Amino acid sequence: KRVRDVRRKLKRESKVQLSDEIIFFDDVAGNKQAKIELMEVVDFFRTPEKFRASGARAPKGVLLVGPPGNGKTLMARAVAGESGVAFISSSAAEFIEMYMGLGAARVRDLFNTARSVAPCIIFIDELDAVGRQRQGGGRSNDERDNTVNQLLSEMDGFEAEQQGIVVMGATNRKDVLDAALTRPGRFDRSIEVRRPDFQGRLEAVKVHLRDKPVSSDIDYVTLASLMGGMSGAQIAGVANTACFLASREGRDEVGQSDLTAAIEQAKYGRAYDQGRFVGAARRRRFAVMEAGISLAATLLPAIEPVDYITIQPSLRSPLGRTVLKPHVGRYTTGVWTYRYLREQLLVALAGRAAEELVMGREELSSLNQDRLQFARQIAFKIMNSGMSEHPDYEHIRGLGQNNYDPSSEPGRFTMYTVTLDSNQSRSEAIDMDMEVEARLNGSYREVLSMLQRNRAALDALIEQLLAKEKLSGEEVVEVVEKLGHPKDLEHRA
Ligand code: ADP
Repeated sequence: KRVRDVRRKLKRESKVQLSDEIIFFDDVAGNKQAKIELMEVVDFFRTPEKFRASGARAPKGVLLVGPPGNGKTLMARAVAGESGVAFISSSAAEFIEMYMGLGAARVRDLFNTARSVAPCIIFIDELDAVGRQRQGGGRSNDERDNTVNQLLSEMDGFEAEQQGIVVMGATNRKDVLDAALTRPGRFDRSIEVRRPDFQGRLEAVKVHLRDKPVSSDIDYVTLASLMGGMSGAQIAGVANTACFLASREGRDEVGQSDLTAAIEQAKYGRAYDQGRFVGAARRRRFAVMEAGISLAATLLPAIEPVDYITIQPSLRSPLGRTVLKPHVGRYTTGVWTYRYLREQLLVALAGRAAEELVMGREELSSLNQDRLQFARQIAFKIMNSGMSEHPDYEHIRGLGQNNYDPSSEPGRFTMYTVTLDSNQSRSEAIDMDMEVEARLNGSYREVLSMLQRNRAALDALIEQLLAKEKLSGEEVVEVVEKLGHPKDLEHRA
């Protein structure tokens, strides 16, 4: 409340028109560490005498590093807001998009403006657009060189302390930056702005609903787990959509259901209102796959309960989908246990197993490709975390630090998915691949026989899905408890 009052007061008093809205640290969710580190800049502006007395070197250039949409710009504006100085922003991509030869002139203008309004922060977005490692040759490279040279000479040419200017640059790729830019006296401090974690997501929804009328029963913890993996910008979008949904229905308060619906939309795209036409054969296949997945998820004790299943595709989710309830505990503890990963692997393979069981081997389709790829990632994670059951355990465990990136090798079911580094031999790579292969095969057999045992429940789920299109978690549980195999139901008792 106090902060909000101060904010309003500052807004009223502010004479600088360069940035329309004044932003403070508490407008930026999460990123506590970054804020702590950026207090150096704030102190530099707020209490220069104290800063000087401490013997600290004036911060001249600060890099904000991190993936797009997570608040680098916001953070830079907050530093200006907290420091009570002007904020001038520009984008390096614009420098070089302009006509040839204008890049350097733009940089000069930028610094001239800064000198006239100082104390201030200059923010340069997408710094890597001009600051990439020089590789020689090409007209566009010359242009880039001129621009970056101008930037370097401007940075060398001012005294942060005397002129009250701090330059903040944003990039998502620090590794491609020209080393000349990161030398001492230039962008020599670098601060990470990350995608929000659980706590950050929780704060982010709150920040974006702050000035909106919200109902009192909002469960922020659940929302934060439902939004796992989202960027700050996506979360801002969710809050926006929720407000829109509420007002469309004539309610003046945003409720939990508006927010969960908005999250659904952000994840899967808008559901087709009219029910998009899906051919009968394709529809049946979706039902078979989702029935298998939701059955396995329900039978396996460590997997979260099913929230709902649907075979109605939506904009960004072209197949059916099984959505599990958020497992709040896992996001807060951040721990993936062997038991959980093992079962998650079974679930990832269940769609394909159901397809084989119900449609037959000849009728397998390519629709499971993404899930199989995910299965491979899990199998690799298990091995790579030293949870291997390989007889040569000690040996395999020693291989924990290889730089395998499953996402860069889409869907390979062959040898050499492992990137070797110099001290690993080819035979080690083969070992690891064979281990992953063995685990995938073993798990596949396991889930196949599990579905076989529970064939009555599987068939019932398929029929209900075809009839109703969408089943709630409770409806799934009802079928499974009635028709499931006693051996698999033991743990539910
Ligand atoms: P970047 O500069 O890293 O690409 P921006 O700062 O431009 O990201 O973020 C875009 C928008 O997303 C912001 O204006 C804000 O609405 C929202 N946003 C991103 N990160 C956060 C955050 N950490 N806290 C609150 N809002 C955020």
